[in-house]
Amino acid sequence: MAIKITLDPGHGVTGNPYPPRPGYYEGTQMWKLANYLKAELERYGFEVVTTRPNLTDDPTLEARGQMAGQNGSALFVSLHSNAPASATDTVTTGTVVFYSMADEANKPLADKLGQKVSGIMGHHYRGSMTREYPGRPGVDYYGVIRSAAESGCKAAYIIEHGFHTNPADSAFLIAGENLKKLAVAEAQIIADHFGYAKEVNIVGKTYTIKEFTITIGDDGTIQIGGSVQADAVPVQPIPVEPTAVEPEDSFKPGDKVRVRQDAYVYGTSNKFAPVVYGSVYEILQQPKGDRVVFGTGEVVIGAVHLDDIIHAE
Ligand SMILES: [Zn+2]
Repeated sequence: MAIKITLDPGHGVTGNPYPPRPGYYEGTQMWKLANYLKAELERYGFEVVTTRPNLTDDPTLEARGQMAGQNGSALFVSLHSNAPASATDTVTTGTVVFYSMADEANKPLADKLGQKVSGIMGHHYRGSMTREYPGRPGVDYYGVIRSAAESGCKAAYIIEHGFHTNPADSAFLIAGENLKKLAVAEAQIIADHFGYAKEVNIVGKTYTIKEFTITIGDDGTIQIGGSVQADAVPVQPIPVEPTAVEPEDSFKPGDKVRVRQDAYVYGTSNKFAPVVYGSVYEILQQPKGDRVVFGTGEVVIGAVHLDDIIHAE
């Protein structure tokens, strides 16, 4: 059964606008990011639920978190962009990831997600953090994390993707192709975390080869196997022609050839007459397997192993 993941695009459709960047609404951009991330995760085989199937959905924090436990999710990720305490602060930047205190094992995934997002957005990682509810030891402060953990999904996270109040961060987050980059990277980290490999469509794409095997059958057919790494560094495609393999040195009737010094008569341990080794002959018949018949004109001199004959210039 597929591992289930709940994604929570923060806020509602017009939630947290940032007027200096016309059209920026945290609630809309994070909804777009969640949908890109959902698609990427599904390519790995995860079953993904979002707390806002429709852009205009805006459930309570408690309802968002509870969805994760109730639907049996192994992971809950709430997607946000940050804003500083002061409305006039446009300098503060950096990504931060909050994770539930309910499970100490949550930190490594927070670290990986946070570092990756910061790298892609081009700012520093502020760190992986927990926040405790004042006066309630061991209880998470943030509502979505708290209710996810309490409902049974202890692997609960909030990713604050930079600060939308920072000009560079909001310029990044308003572009769909950038959200897609984040989605691809976040999905890959989550898939690695759960040991999932992506299902790939191999047609028309280029792959980096990790292991490569070629099996050539008796009839000359080629079977290619091995494993590839998808979405790695682009490489030049390797042309593979589905035809029978010809030996590097192939011979056909009429070719001028010499017999290698000290070669044996085909299938025996007898040598030819010494003069044979110094002479140029012709191939007389289409070689069958590794047996090559040579001579002059109509006269057969002998047969020799394919490896023991070379083209004469
Ligand atoms: Zn937010």
